[in-house]
Formats: sequence, structure tokens, C-alpha cells
Amino acid sequence: MPRTVHIVGAGISGLAAAVRLAGQGVAPVIHEATSRAGGRCRSYDDAATGMRIDNGTHILLSGNTAALGFLETIGATALMRGAPSARFPFVDLASGAHWTLDLGAGRLPTWLFDRKRRPPGTGPLDYLPLARMLFPAHGRTLGSVITCQGAAYERVLQPFLLAALNIDPPAASADLVRAVVRETITRGGTACRPYLAPKGLSAAFVEPALAYLGRHGAAVRFGEELRRLVLADAAIAALDFGEGEVTLTPDDAVILAVPPYVASAIVPKLQTPDEFRAIVNAHFRIVPPPGLAPMTGVVNGVAEWIFAFDDRISVTVSGADRLLQYQRDELAEMLWNDVKRVANIETALPPWQIVRERRATFAATPAQNARRPGALTSWRNLVLAGDWTDTGLPATIESAVRSGNWAADLVMRM
Ligand SMILES: Cc1cc2nc3c(=O)[nH]c(=O)nc-3n(C[C@H](O)[C@H](O)[C@H](O)COP(=O)(O)OP(=O)(O)OC[C@H]3O[C@@H](n4cnc5c(N)ncnc54)[C@H](O)[C@@H]3O)c2cc1C
Repeated sequence: MPRTVHIVGAGISGLAAAVRLAGQGVAPVIHEATSRAGGRCRSYDDAATGMRIDNGTHILLSGNTAALGFLETIGATALMRGAPSARFPFVDLASGAHWTLDLGAGRLPTWLFDRKRRPPGTGPLDYLPLARMLFPAHGRTLGSVITCQGAAYERVLQPFLLAALNIDPPAASADLVRAVVRETITRGGTACRPYLAPKGLSAAFVEPALAYLGRHGAAVRFGEELRRLVLADAAIAALDFGEGEVTLTPDDAVILAVPPYVASAIVPKLQTPDEFRAIVNAHFRIVPPPGLAPMTGVVNGVAEWIFAFDDRISVTVSGADRLLQYQRDELAEMLWNDVKRVANIETALPPWQIVRERRATFAATPAQNARRPGALTSWRNLVLAGDWTDTGLPATIESAVRSGNWAADLVMRM
């Protein structure tokens, strides 16, 4: 068992590693560059709307077992609201069609055989060719494995995969698509019930994790940005935070849980993903009209998912690099127009905020997926964590938690 474990980065992967260690009696020291924990999964007080909002609405699915396990450990299960079954209302803004994709609550895909539970214009046989994505197609794009066209693709697979992988699905790694689909859709509605954090991401994921760590004797140091690893032959000898070095004893270990572009600058010869995709979120301060579903999928709009919270309506657009050319007020107008049509309201633009996360996730292409390193490094006391490490999943909370858990387990075995 290591003497002290230093975790660099207090995003979800760093917090998951810390919680896993703390639960086994090892109180880690966490060093976070900024003044808050959560990384890409955080809430903040927004002056423009006068609300506490999330950098982006995050969804978990009931098949995200590691993420839900993390929430259970830190005592935050009640802070996520899970839908009773996997029902997803959709609106097609081009045709005006409305439907509900109802995957049900069981394991079997009975929805395929029930016209009322699948999108209009699709029959069971339309889904058959899509099954090719379930077979191994190592290193290939989804677009080279299935035909990314037709109503079954456009009304079911495209919205789901774009949200899960944050990339235009034809360009996505078929390996990552297969992993996601095997852990969710093929397990039926039981693995696809969506979970949202109505009180915010920090309230659900971050504050309970910090409280748990506090109760277990862990130290969290904010404003400590790792600048350099002091390398000895086979081990890390010290951590350089600019204003002082932390010298490591032979029994100490380090979990580096920073973004890939930081890790590759700090760890010699480390290859990491280096291409990213954006996510744009809009938050509108308005009490949603009665009847607006907690989450509505939008086809043929600029908005992709519309979320109704108690005090606001939020919009998510994934793979959103094409939107970065617009001014923020243009984006607010464009997205509000889609909200008005979906929610059936005429209200003028309410107070709003646009959050553009340019490097929301690594680009889930085959080439970028091949650049993901495993957790182990050439230094015996240095382990990597992060949604971008080789977890076999796209960059999600599930991937981040699994990588943190795995890093903690490796350190415990040292
Ligand atoms: C807008 C948006 C929407 C998303 N939606 C979803 C969703 O719906 N569902 C889902 O599952 N996932 C979603 N994700 C992805 C999810 O947020 C990430 O997978 C997850 O938060 C990554 O956690 P991480 O710990 O790997 O990395 P990060 O969150 O990037 O954490 C890294 C931490 O390291 C710190 N750091 C950086 N450099 C240093 C340094 N030199 N020294 C010390 N600390 C340092 C950073 O400040 C940060 O706190 C979304 C992401 C975004 C941006």
C-alpha cells in the first residue's frame, strides 16, 4: 500500500480516484490548479441570468454503472433524478412530426415491434442493417460499417450517438460506438433510463465528493497547478507546483488526472488525443410551460436536446464546432427560436447564457481513439486517469469514473 497518493486534478476522474482510495483507508492529497473542483462537470453562479447553472447539462443513463456507483458511494444518489422508464419525446422541426421513442423499462427490445413506441416512418426491419455496428470493426468509422441514412438512423441512432460520442456519428470510431451501444441500447430500456441533476452538477457530483473526502481525511489543495514532474530513472521524484516542490518518498504514488493536452506537456513522450469537439449549451431563465418534458430530442433544428428544469430551459448542441463562428447573442436567438417551437410558446428572449466548451471532449474518431494511453506509464509510481485514457468508452462521466477507479486500484496494488 502506498504511503501518500498525490492526485493531480479534481475533475470527475480525480475525485473518483480519491473517493476509491479514501474508501479503502488511504487518504490522498488532491492538487487542483483552479479554485474549484469538478473540471468539465461543474456549476457556477451566472451573473447574466442570476442563476446557478451548469457549464453543460449532463445526462447519465441507468447503464452507467460506475458513475451511479460513484454517486452512491458519496451519498448523492438522491441528487440525480432518474426517469422511471426510457421514454424520449422527439420533435422534428422540419416536418412538425412528434413522437416518443419508448424503450420501456425491461431488457428486451419489444419497442421495435410496437408502432406506438418507435418513431414514425420506421419498421422493425429498418433496424436490422444497423445491427452491423454490433460486430467488431476495429479502427474503422461507423460510416464505413453501416449506412448512416434513413429514418431509423436519423430518428433513433443519430441523436443518441451524437449525444454520447460528441461527434458526427459517421466519422465516429466504430469501436466506441459498439462499446456504447452494447452497454446501453442492446440492454434495453433498463440500461437507458436517463438521469439528470436538477440541483446542478456540483450539488450532485462535486460537493458530496468533497464532503466524503473531508470525512475520510483527504486533503484538497486548490490553486496548485502542476508545472513539472521531477523524474528519476524509474519513478517520479517530486512534483513541481511552481512555488515549491513536493518531494516524494519511494512509497508515494501519483495519479495524474488532468486533461490530455496538459498531460502530454508534462509527461515526456506521452501520446494523447489532440483533436477535440465542442459542446454548446444555452440556458434561458424562464419557468417551463406545463407539459414540456424534462428532456426533448430535436431533429432538424439547431437545438438537439431541450431540458426543462424548475427555473430554466436549457439546450444542448453536441459536435458543435460549426456553431463557434456565431456570436453569442446570435446563438441565443437561434436556439431560443427552436425552444419556442418545441415548447409551443411565444415569449420574447428571456435572460440567457451561452456556454461554449471548445474542448468538451476528445474527437471520438478511430485515429484519436488509437492515441489514448493506458493508465500505466514508464514510471512505476505514476498512473494516468481521465476520460481520454484508454477506457474503451467515449469521453463521458462513465469513462472518467472508470479511469479514476482503475487508477486507484493500480496504485493500491503497487
Ligand atoms: C458541455 C459538456 C457537456 C457534457 N455532457 C456530458 C453528458 O451529458 N454525459 C456525460 O457522461 N459526460 C458529459 N460530458 C463529459 C464529462 O464532463 C467529462 O467526461 C468529465 O467531466 C471528464 O472528467 P475528467 O476528470 O476526465 O477531466 P476534467 O474535467 O478535464 O478534469 C481535469 C482537472 O484537472 C485540472 N488541471 C488541469 N491542469 C492541471 C494542472 N497542471 N495541475 C493541477 N490540476 C490541473 C483541471 O482544472 C480539472 O479540474 C460533457 C462535457 C462537457 C464539457
